[in-house]
Amino acid sequence: MAEFLFPPPPPAALPVIGQQARFPVNRIFCVGRNYAAHAAEMGSEVDREAPFYFLKSAHAVRQSGATLAYPPGTRDLHHEIELVVALGAPAFRIGAGQAMAAVWGYGSGLDMTRRDLQAAAKDKRRPWDLGKNFEGAAVLSALTPARDFAPAAQRIHLQVNGTVRQEARISDMVWSIPELIADLSHYYHLAPGDLIMTGTPAGVGAVGAGDRLQGGVEGLAEVVLAIDPAE
Ligand code: MN
Repeated sequence: MAEFLFPPPPPAALPVIGQQARFPVNRIFCVGRNYAAHAAEMGSEVDREAPFYFLKSAHAVRQSGATLAYPPGTRDLHHEIELVVALGAPAFRIGAGQAMAAVWGYGSGLDMTRRDLQAAAKDKRRPWDLGKNFEGAAVLSALTPARDFAPAAQRIHLQVNGTVRQEARISDMVWSIPELIADLSHYYHLAPGDLIMTGTPAGVGAVGAGDRLQGGVEGLAEVVLAIDPAE
């Protein structure tokens, strides 16, 4: 047995619909600007040449049902509801035609964003990490195995305190699930446990202490999040 200087952190893991075993989370790849209407509301256009990505650490994961203290360092915390793709097999330099074989399942997720910090980073041509990768920035539902869900034109939606803020169809995505997996596989040795957050539709906006977020993709488990006052 390897000896460690101090106990390594427990792995992040997600519940699975219909079975006891949990899905251990490895890397979290996030797709930028994958719905044209959201790119437009952010003052950008979709890059039709290639998708682009940022990553979140597994330390950012919270399970659906969590309560998150309003995060430090921001005055503009935003919600982004997204379809999450969970990989269960390795993939390296594959084509889109082979990509779906690597999919283990699907879930609903919130890409929580410190929008003010992301905007400042964009202005200064700096990385987005402070805006996107922080504790509680990836709130994820239980996963549904791929045999029980076929991505098509399901509704994706988010309510804040019962009011609909985001609503679209996952068929509105610019880059499809197999295109994203194939593209990522040319930059990484994709592995079981990797997640892909596939981008958010239009309607992102601010949330604050006392708000309750509820959303997801039709046919998958919902993601729910409550926001508490800042620590
Ligand atoms: Mn996002």
